[in-house]
Amino acid sequence: MSKKVYDIAVLKGDGIGPEVVEEALVVLQAIGTPRFNFTEYPCGAGCYLDCGDPLPDSTVEACRTADAVLLGAMGLPDIRWKDGTEMRPQIDLRIILDLYAGVRPIYLYNRDHSPLRGLDAGAIDFVILRENVEGLFASMNGGIELRREVAVDSMVITRSGTERIVRYAFELAVQRARSPMRVTCVDKANVFKSMAFFRSVYDQVAGDFPDVERDYAYVDALSMYLVQRPKDYDVLVAENMYGDIISDLAAGLVGGLGMAPSGDIGPDAAVFQPSHGTAPDIAGKGLANPVAMILSAALMLKWLGDREDDGDAVQGAARIENAVQFIVSQAGAGTPDIGGTMTTSELGKAIVEVL
Ligand code: ATP
Repeated sequence: MSKKVYDIAVLKGDGIGPEVVEEALVVLQAIGTPRFNFTEYPCGAGCYLDCGDPLPDSTVEACRTADAVLLGAMGLPDIRWKDGTEMRPQIDLRIILDLYAGVRPIYLYNRDHSPLRGLDAGAIDFVILRENVEGLFASMNGGIELRREVAVDSMVITRSGTERIVRYAFELAVQRARSPMRVTCVDKANVFKSMAFFRSVYDQVAGDFPDVERDYAYVDALSMYLVQRPKDYDVLVAENMYGDIISDLAAGLVGGLGMAPSGDIGPDAAVFQPSHGTAPDIAGKGLANPVAMILSAALMLKWLGDREDDGDAVQGAARIENAVQFIVSQAGAGTPDIGGTMTTSELGKAIVEVL
């Protein structure tokens, strides 16, 4: 039986995180059913200043036990560890909770949002699957630095880690049911052993999905193809760092980071957050685009609905997407990053009114 009240852990974080989360919470409340218990937990660079830890154990535990987690953005450029790296509790959380699948839908809502010419709304519609817990990020916090002269970070690709992200990608292509269904393997298999291995595992998993087209692209060439012919893509799967980079490139095709939602999904937990960071340059000015966060909340609803067999939640997700589409497809509607004049809360309110 479907669960009609979901416990959601809310991690607002730093910079523009709290501003965009606030709008997402109002939108979620506006759909009426299902209902939510939102509980806020401390996390981020500000939390480190307050209590000496950017990711307290109690916050991790709350994320583990909640039905899902909504996260704003974390980290501030002036607050760093001794080795010079920024605090990234959102990345630590992925590893602790094994949120291996970074799901990043890229959709063009309005032709004016794209720097590319001649593309109508809906002409760009693909999903990037970023492997979230290994790859080049495996040595995060553990890379080697010798005598302040040599520094090494390693690419770690495992069979089981690759199998599960590639399988997720193929299953998603089947669920999207586009014609043709296609999964593009993004790698650098012509140069790196680790990437040739990634591709060989992709091929093995692809054998289980004969109706889905196989497609291959080296990450450098893909960066060009995404700009030249973004219509060709359906689902793309990549190791962690490549997935990170092509996600920002892809966001740029549809209006920027403020339009790019994401979900970090694991076997037992899931965190939904916009693809952008804390954008300290625009924090507190009402300039942040809340759409990426609001669409991430919709992704959360869809995920909850599928998992709990809750038709109301699945429908709620679609309603939020439609409301966003209705508003941002209008000429000049939106925050300045997408060519509008609305503030963060005006845009949030407009979406709520449609709902
Ligand atoms: P991170 O490494 O944490 O992902 P970043 O340093 O790459 O962060 P972001 O914080 O994502 O950068 O922001 C990059 C730029 O994009 C910002 O300077 C900001 O101008 C713009 N930006 C990001 N998110 C938004 C948003 N929601 N609305 C408007 N502009 C945004």
